[in-house]
Amino acid sequence: MQIAIQQGKNCPSVDGAYNVGAVITVNGQFATFGYSRQVPGNTHAEENALNALLAKHPKKEYLENVVLYTTMEPCSTRTSGKKSCTDIILECGFISKIFYCVDEPPLFVDCVGKEILVGAGIPVIQIPQLINDCKKLNSHLFN
Ligand SMILES: [Zn+2]
Repeated sequence: MQIAIQQGKNCPSVDGAYNVGAVITVNGQFATFGYSRQVPGNTHAEENALNALLAKHPKKEYLENVVLYTTMEPCSTRTSGKKSCTDIILECGFISKIFYCVDEPPLFVDCVGKEILVGAGIPVIQIPQLINDCKKLNSHLFN
């Protein structure tokens, strides 16, 4: 999660979006990272980390024990109308567990990402110890 927070600091801040960092591990080893708007367009951290993983491992059927760390709960609705990270995670089908710190605040949309993912059988575990560090990434939006 510390690496995810460091990645979150790379986000170019914009008024209408959160700064989020994400890391993916495969079998306990660091695999890829992502952060908000790392790829041009309104891209999300989890989306960028997953795309990087698929670029590295095109044969996704061999991916095992894939864990996603993200500084904020995966989104369930995007104001841009793009596919949500929750949908992207469910479609890829290989994420076995998710750790996150901050619940998405109801600033732009009401997020139910955690509820949907847990309902689909993916454990979603909050790491409360690092909430303040993750919130600081979004000091342009809230304190
Ligand atoms: Zn998202």
